[in-house]
Amino acid sequence: MKLTLLGTGCPKVDHRRFGPSNLISTKKTKILVDCGSGITQRLEEIKISTATIDALFLTHLHSDHVVDLYQLIISSWHSYRVKPWIIYGPVGTKKFVKKIMHAWQDERNQRIKYELRSSIQAFNVKVKEFKNFGNIKIKDIKIQYFEVDHKPVKYAFGFNFFNKNKKLTISGDTRPCDNLMKYAQKADVLLHEVYIDEEMKKIEFSEMRSIKTIHNVKDYHTPSYIVGKIAKISRCKKLVLTHFVPTSFNEKNLKKIVKKDYGKNPIIGKDLLTIKL
Ligand SMILES: [Zn+2]
Repeated sequence: MKLTLLGTGCPKVDHRRFGPSNLISTKKTKILVDCGSGITQRLEEIKISTATIDALFLTHLHSDHVVDLYQLIISSWHSYRVKPWIIYGPVGTKKFVKKIMHAWQDERNQRIKYELRSSIQAFNVKVKEFKNFGNIKIKDIKIQYFEVDHKPVKYAFGFNFFNKNKKLTISGDTRPCDNLMKYAQKADVLLHEVYIDEEMKKIEFSEMRSIKTIHNVKDYHTPSYIVGKIAKISRCKKLVLTHFVPTSFNEKNLKKIVKKDYGKNPIIGKDLLTIKL
């Protein structure tokens, strides 16, 4: 199994860190987690056609995680996709997808009529919504989904991916969360979000943002001085950090802070970094 970080950023635009998105793949299977801004460009960069993706999993419906959903679908049509899209996501995903498809319906119908492509299966979007937790199998990958805590976002999920005795845990967006530590136990790789507190403290005093805004953003993410503790308690073999808030930071410093708790150096995620499990 392989994990490829397609986008390691957050809502702030940064050309080095695209919006949140990851690819989990084996020889047989390709699964996307989230579809942040720039996902199709990153897939093209690694020569993965959107026509070949087996399923899309959504951690939650914050815009930075889903903003390129229609781009993913339309570009897969242009890439001659001949199978339906299968999307797994939290409660609300059905409504969200329906609205997005509706927004482009007239334009799409006109294109279908005019461009006369052989298949319109790319526009056949099947959505399945998560319960509190559960298991799904996509070819040779077993997926386990579980709730994390990103309130006030009502429905937010983390995932485990299993293949050939290997386990990959993806935190999704979450504040420090017991359920995550429970499900991430002994993961070969834990891909975790991080809010870099020491960097955000600098921004607080140099930009026009209220202390309350900064506080609230921090409050539903996992600060850098806690993520190492979570990795330690989870006993994960490798900790990979992503979803950096902010997107520019002192890497050496972040590693030092996390290592103090985790006991090992974390891997600082980068767009298109691939990790084999
Ligand atoms: Zn979020």
